[in-house]
Order: sequence, then C-alpha cells, then structure tokens
Amino acid sequence: MLTEPWTVRTGTGSYYKVFTPYWKAVRALYAPPPPQPRLESLQASQKLNTDNLDAWQLHPHKPDWSDGLSSAWRPGEAGAKDRLGAFLQKGIGFYDRHRNRPDLDHGTSRLSPHLAWGEIAPSTIWRAVQHHISAHEADVDGAMVFLSELVWRDFAYVLLFHKPNLAIENYNQDFDLMPWRASETDLLAWQQGQTGYPIVDAGMRELWTTGWMHNRVRMIVASFLTKHLLLPWQHGETWFWDTLVDADAASNSASWQWTAGSGADAAPYFRVFNPISQGEKFDETGDYVRKWCPELSRLPGKYLYAPWKADPVTLAKAGIRLGHTYPAPIIEHTAGRQRALDAYATLKRRRDAA
Ligand SMILES: Cc1cc2nc3c(=O)[nH]c(=O)nc-3n(C[C@H](O)[C@H](O)[C@H](O)COP(=O)(O)OP(=O)(O)OC[C@H]3O[C@@H](n4cnc5c(N)ncnc54)[C@H](O)[C@@H]3O)c2cc1C
Repeated sequence: MLTEPWTVRTGTGSYYKVFTPYWKAVRALYAPPPPQPRLESLQASQKLNTDNLDAWQLHPHKPDWSDGLSSAWRPGEAGAKDRLGAFLQKGIGFYDRHRNRPDLDHGTSRLSPHLAWGEIAPSTIWRAVQHHISAHEADVDGAMVFLSELVWRDFAYVLLFHKPNLAIENYNQDFDLMPWRASETDLLAWQQGQTGYPIVDAGMRELWTTGWMHNRVRMIVASFLTKHLLLPWQHGETWFWDTLVDADAASNSASWQWTAGSGADAAPYFRVFNPISQGEKFDETGDYVRKWCPELSRLPGKYLYAPWKADPVTLAKAGIRLGHTYPAPIIEHTAGRQRALDAYATLKRRRDAA
C-alpha cells in the first residue's frame, strides 16, 4: 500500500467511501518513503529442501495450460522494473488519452501482476513517476491520472479493511433484494468467450490465455455478466479470482461491486454498457478483437462488434458461419438491457416495501 487503510480519514473521522476526495487527500499528504536497504538474507517461512523452483514441480502438466502466461509475463522484480521502465518511456505521457485503448500495447502499464505479487512496491512506482516528470514536464497530465489509478488500489483496501466480506456480501445491502438469474449455460458461455459479442469474447479469451485483461474490457465483461446476463457479480469475482495473474482480494471485489452497482461510490446499476458501441469506441483499430477472435479477423470494421448485422455475402466472404464458426449473440442487446432495468426496478420496489 501507499498508505495503510486506516490512516487517511475524512474531516469527521470516518473512512472515505467516495474515491475523488480520497484521491485528493492522498495526493496532498503522501510522500514516498526512501527505499528500504537491500536485504542481505531472507528467512523462509518453512524449511525448504531446495531453492530450485523446477524441483518443486509446480508447473502444470496434463494439460499444461500455462503457455500463454509464460509468454506474456516475466515474473519477479527484474520483470517488474523492465515493465515500469518501458511504460515511463512509451506510455505514461499518453496515459490520460490512451488508457482506455485495449488495442494498444503501452496504453497502460501492465504492472498489476507485479504489484499483486509484491514484486514492486507502489511507493517505488510513485518515486519513479515523480523522478520522470521532473525531467519530462510534458508528461505530467498522463502521470497524474496514472497515480490516481494507483490510488484506486489503496482505496479498494480501505473498503476491504472496513468490510472484510467484500468478496461475498453486497457493500450496499439493497442489492440483497436483486432478482438475479441462475444459468449455468450463460455463465459458461461468458467464461469461455462464446457470448457472440466480440468485445466480450475477446476479453474473456485474453484473460484465459494470458491471465490479464485490459481494465476497459474488464468493465465491459463485468457489465455484460451482471446486466445483460443478470447473473450475480460473485460469479464473475470468483472466475476472475481463479484466472487473473493479478487477482487481488481488494481490487477484484471492489471493482466487481463497482461495476455491479452494489459497491461504494459505484457506477449506477442503470448504466448498462453497450457491448457494441464500447467495442467500436475503444478498440479503435479493431486489432484487439481481431487478435483474440481470429475467426472474425476478415470481417470489415463496420461489423466487427456486431457480426450478426452483416449480410450473408459479407459473412461468407469473411469465412464466418454464425452459430457454427462464431456464436450468435446469447442475448439480444436491447432485451438484455431492458431485463436488467426491470430487475433493478424490482429491487427498488422491494426495498421501498421493506
Ligand atoms: C471487474 C474488475 C475486476 C478487477 N480485478 C482486479 C484484480 O483482481 N486485481 C487488480 O490489480 N486490479 C483489478 N481490477 C482493476 C484494473 O482493471 C487493473 O488493476 C488494471 O487493468 C491493471 O492493468 P495495469 O497494471 O496496466 O493498470 P494501469 O492502468 O497501468 O494502472 C496502474 C496500477 O493502478 C492500479 N489500478 C488501476 N486501475 C485500478 C482499479 N480500477 N482498481 C484498483 N486498482 C487499479 C493497479 O494496481 C494497476 O497496476 C479490476 C477491474 C475490474 C473492472
């Protein structure tokens, strides 16, 4: 953490439940401490026969599902420092403009797994960013937005500290009255990236292959699960927990609750992301969907986020047979949106009657 979750308090002495004033408070008072001296030795918590990692036989086999993970990441402090260096050089100056672009390699830092596993400290990142902007003043706007995102991580811990059941229980208990659906089939289609919505499927496949997903796409897939499919956010939280290389008890729960509308300072439930226009807007080049849904790669950009809108000739030319080579949408967008809004209206009726 940058600051311990019990230290930053509002004027009335309570904890912050809204992000923007929390960020302002942290920005005003936080200064990164000097780096700790290098450790000369490290005591293992249990007796180990060998420090040769291969001998521990942790590597999955039958099947080995870890290929995509090993090519995407270099675990450890050196990998973290390289990632930070590359981001300072190529990404931070554009972060305020590019951070929502999943089609760009350096739009965001991809430091989250390194942070989650303690391979780099947030204070180290903060210091490096300060140092960077002292020499590159033009990058200051991007840098401040980036630091505010780092503070979201602390904010999630503030919430978890005060609500230890954040991964299970609705922060806003009104959501206990939500008439969620149950559907194993829909959940499986979502987990496997087979919903028929290319931006959702691309994200879920990126997650399965690399253990990571771009933040904008996380918001889109989470909205799709909790709104279009009307499935409880806890299902998504659990799947992310199992599959993310940056799975983090605080950020994961807080972000799922944020998207589902049940969290502190959450996006309102009635804000339903449109998975078609979100794709068009943020995957500007189409490279993201084309990479993760290669069966759609020959489709013209106009139809890339809604293949069912393409005429039969266009589909045939692109080699697509909907329902065979790529699924038809598992729920129609307007109907899914309306079902979600109706469910929310039911929640409100139940709450008012209680
Ligand atoms: C449904 C959902 C689940 C998520 N689950 C996790 C999770 O398990 N672990 C996790 O680290 N992040 C989670 N996030 C937050 C965010 O998506 C990732 O931190 C971010 O995508 C990591 O990529 P990056 O390192 O390139 O981020 P950058 O944009 O480069 O941000 C720098 C760092 O700031 C922190 N950060 C950025 N955005 C957030 C955020 N919204 N909330 C908390 N911290 C943030 C991360 O530590 C990140 O590494 C989740 C978001 C959503 C919508």
